[in-house]
Amino acid sequence: MKYISTRGHAPQLGFEEVVLAGLASDGGLYVPESIPAFSLPEIASFAPLSYRELAMRIMSPFIGDALSKDELTRIIDGAYDSFRHTAIAPLAQLDTNEWILELFHGPTLAFKDFALQFLGRLVDHLLIRRDERVVVLGATSGDTGSAALAGCRGRDRMQSFILFPHGRVSEVQRRQMTTMTDANIHNIALEGTFDDCQDVVKTLFADAEFRSKHHLVAVNSINWARILAQVVYYFYAALRLGAPAKAVSFCVPTGNFGDIFAGYIARQMGLPIHRLIIATNRNDILARCLHTGTYSMEGVTPTLSPSMDIQISSNFERLLFDLYGRDAARLATLMADFRTHRSFTLEAQPLADLRRLFDALAVDDVATQATMRTVYEQTGQLLDPHTAVGVAAARACHQAASVPIVTLATAHPAKFPDAVRGACRVHPALPSHLSDLFERAERYDVLKHDLALIKQFIEAHKQ
Ligand SMILES: *Cc1c(COP(=O)(O)O)cnc(C)c1O
Repeated sequence: MKYISTRGHAPQLGFEEVVLAGLASDGGLYVPESIPAFSLPEIASFAPLSYRELAMRIMSPFIGDALSKDELTRIIDGAYDSFRHTAIAPLAQLDTNEWILELFHGPTLAFKDFALQFLGRLVDHLLIRRDERVVVLGATSGDTGSAALAGCRGRDRMQSFILFPHGRVSEVQRRQMTTMTDANIHNIALEGTFDDCQDVVKTLFADAEFRSKHHLVAVNSINWARILAQVVYYFYAALRLGAPAKAVSFCVPTGNFGDIFAGYIARQMGLPIHRLIIATNRNDILARCLHTGTYSMEGVTPTLSPSMDIQISSNFERLLFDLYGRDAARLATLMADFRTHRSFTLEAQPLADLRRLFDALAVDDVATQATMRTVYEQTGQLLDPHTAVGVAAARACHQAASVPIVTLATAHPAKFPDAVRGACRVHPALPSHLSDLFERAERYDVLKHDLALIKQFIEAHKQ
């Protein structure tokens, strides 16, 4: 399988190179040259497969001969052995045709574990094969950091540095990162904001000398292998609900558009998905784009669902590429426009195509809390605020009563205890494997927002 850049000026790469490259050298994102599709009888034959077996079937065509069958099996088994529910991604029913897909049974209690447990093992495997070492560098406002570190921990070829804003992440979020005390894990509490953390990371990636000297890699959601791992659970859930004989709709709490883009890929591969609903919080660039046709950047407003507090949705570029008939030259122009004017307007045809597949709704904090409360009263189920944004959007947008609607439950309620207590007046308990989180020893370094100092720290600690 070959991968091409959405902007047309980066070399075509194979799967292995794409995993290690992250962003394309022309600033674009890598996508498969073509999307492999399954026939309906083939999809029907997947129904009895376990999650791990299904993952093998879905991922293999994208990986080709970059990994042997045994290698891929070992990576998938390792990744999903770390989950605490035997179904890996169980469905829970909220109402007659309404479901949530619980994606929070991984080590850090958020759906990002699906991709990052896989990616950590995959990168480690490639590094052993190439006899290389890398520095994993990222910034986090909470969720991504712990999932990324959990995927890398104990893998000495991946020295991992995560910056988070000192005193500005919740205690659960901080402890999920800082209680990983493996030798290759380096938590940096930066004296500054999340934007400062991101600035540092961006500056270091833009520093060609530093970047190549230390072989920096990013594990952010533009990495194709992360999208690929997420395609699997759309098939898994739809098969449980009667696909491919029946169509299913999905509603996805959305930030960077990675998770819902995986749903779009599942549909391109032949899975009968009726609608994909984009659920956003007040940071609603995508909902505005779908409703008005204009994609335009505004400031970030903090909400109860911080992992969706984003200014732009990086992976949306991958969908735009398809909406513009995979015309890389047009897409490069569009993205250049966006860089200059912080806004662009979709033409009639791409906009019509977008609306044919997707719905979108922005849900504010008041409606999010009301949904958490209503669902708790109706079903006894506690939702985290991200999932509640999804359920609220699903209930508002879902028209076809005979089609099952599945909202992706992207985080465990215990990750956001204050929001849950505020809405439902109950305290969500941490699952048993994390119940001693508040007694565990922490290790992290507090650093000033000073680039030279941070570079020194990385050089001194990467071994
Ligand atoms: C990252 C995250 C999201 C948003 O996912 P994207 O792939 O960025 O759209 C939603 N909910 C939770 C809990 C997350 O951690």
